[in-house]
Amino acid sequence: MVTAEPLIALKDIRKCYGGGDSPEIEVLRGLSLNIHAGEFVAIVGTSGSGKSTLMNMLGCLDRPSSGTYHFAGRDVAAMNSDELAWLRREAFGFVFQGYHLIPTGTAQENVEMPAVYAGMSVARRHERSAQLLERLGLGERMGHRPNQLSGGQQQRVSIARALMNGGRIILADEPTGALDSRSGQEVMALLRELSALGHTVILITHDRKVADQAQRVIEILDGQIVADSGPAVPPEGQQQLALNTDAHGASWLADLAEAGRAAWRVMWVNRFRTALTLLGIVIGVASVIVMLAVGLGARQRVVAQLGALGTNLIFLSSVGESSRIPGRSITLQDLEALENIPNITHILPNVTGNKVIRFGSVDTQTYVRGTGAALPVLQTWPVGKGTFFDERDDQQLASVAVLGAKVAKTLMPDIDNPVGQQILIDNTLFLVIGVMSEKGRLTGDRDDDDVVFVPFNTGGVRVFGQREPTYTVLAVHDLARITQTQEAIEAMLLKRHGIKDFATGNAAASIAAQAKTQDSMTVMLSLIAAVSLVVGGIGVMNVMLMTVRERTREIGIRMATGARQRDILRQFLTEAVLVSLVGGVVGVVAGLLIGGALIAWEVPLVFSVSGILGAFACALFTGLFFGFMPARQAARLDPVTALGSE
Ligand code: ADP
Ligand code: MG
Repeated sequence: MVTAEPLIALKDIRKCYGGGDSPEIEVLRGLSLNIHAGEFVAIVGTSGSGKSTLMNMLGCLDRPSSGTYHFAGRDVAAMNSDELAWLRREAFGFVFQGYHLIPTGTAQENVEMPAVYAGMSVARRHERSAQLLERLGLGERMGHRPNQLSGGQQQRVSIARALMNGGRIILADEPTGALDSRSGQEVMALLRELSALGHTVILITHDRKVADQAQRVIEILDGQIVADSGPAVPPEGQQQLALNTDAHGASWLADLAEAGRAAWRVMWVNRFRTALTLLGIVIGVASVIVMLAVGLGARQRVVAQLGALGTNLIFLSSVGESSRIPGRSITLQDLEALENIPNITHILPNVTGNKVIRFGSVDTQTYVRGTGAALPVLQTWPVGKGTFFDERDDQQLASVAVLGAKVAKTLMPDIDNPVGQQILIDNTLFLVIGVMSEKGRLTGDRDDDDVVFVPFNTGGVRVFGQREPTYTVLAVHDLARITQTQEAIEAMLLKRHGIKDFATGNAAASIAAQAKTQDSMTVMLSLIAAVSLVVGGIGVMNVMLMTVRERTREIGIRMATGARQRDILRQFLTEAVLVSLVGGVVGVVAGLLIGGALIAWEVPLVFSVSGILGAFACALFTGLFFGFMPARQAARLDPVTALGSE
């Protein structure tokens, strides 16, 4: 009972190797052959007669140079690489002389590989692979790696793998070639058993005695069939070839999880090398994070310092020689004139200098500032105890003083509330009416709290003996127009003085300018750090290229068991991304730790979440980018070439 349509129909198949600069040799020379479902065929021939070439052709690992191959009535030449992968996965099961197991996987994982590419669920896959291994007498060896198994055991693992997706057609290329005679006999007994169960078995051997165990023997010599015992009647209970034509069953998530697990295993097996590769990424990510934090910290410090002066303030001071008092070109008349400029809300003249002040037997040199009543409001500096002086005190030349927190401590360490005490400033008696709240900041070298405030007019008349302001603070109402206001002030003073013997500045502009320099510093530092990330990426690429080369054979094995190009691409890309992912995580942790240590050292650092996420994303992208080329190289390998590599 031979089914009408042959399962495999080869017609006038030719295969040439070489061409170009190497001599062309024809290995298969016009070979025609029909094989029906359920047959047990042995193809026998001397070494070099073209048996393996024929088998690769039959198993759709290789394409003929000319001639046609119809599989179950379909022209194989018309199939694309995914369809061929599907055929290898669902229809064929390969058994090689050299077993071709993946060294990093356990027996069970090796057996499961075709099912992974077929998208079988993890539970079913575990169950089936365990059953198969049990059936082949390897129940105790499921967790062993190939190098922990004997040759015979490895070959049985590879037979189990061939059966994993059904293995309707077993293609065995010298399956006993590397085995001792007893193991060889066991393998042959297994193949006979499979044939009896309805599998189509195509056995390739150079050994006549082995071949004779098949029902049909085909002899080939120099790429041509020289003898064929003819189609044999397949055994009873022949299994019809019912291929699983389902689309790839597993979800992309399951695929990804599988690829992730496999990638993790490879990483773990090569952990020393992986660690070195990781180092590049770790250093890159950590330095980007730390550099950004340092830059941001410096920026924030500068902005805070300038911002403390008040952002809506314009500072006006005298510059150079003046016809009036040297260094005091701005007069009170000038300030009166400035009151007419719109947008100015307050004008706060200051007269300042260092003076000796005394309380009881204690004296100290400190900074005395004659200023206006609006100071606490304009410079957002509240009074701690007592009150600040008011307009009336100023007009009446009241001898009242408000102490900075530090001065209060220096002069009156034992007095809880200095309000009401009397001090001498340059031998003039002043009544303390308030103490400022503590600022705890430096302006230049000077401690902000080391100051004594007196009314401007009192200071001018009684302390400094001159009424021209040392400098003036002008507050504006609308911050958006601060630059125009500043220009208006300059224009008016220039008109009044005829020469530019003054200077103006405003905190908002200084902040913007400082922040800008800080920003470009930050960008530069981060760029330098990013370069190390790129270097890390090149490291990843290097290792991936090496990996692909080392594992060419593995790629061939995966293709023979039905992996599509995109499965291979995904696998290697996953490995690259996983390295970068782990590198990114370690890098973030390292960056935070280094940052923490710097903060403990009082370096001002500000971590930004977006910076950390950005560095992490860069690392991932680097892996993807630099991993793509090697991964694509792997995916595009020719299955036969890959299988044949050492
Ligand atoms: P067998 O399996 O019968 O020993 P093969 O099919 O492996 O023989 O090889 C048949 C012939 O084809 C040999 O002469 C071999 O050198 C040649 N051959 C096989 N593969 C290639 C190849 N990739 N490039 C060139 N020649 C090859
Ligand atoms: Mg061979």
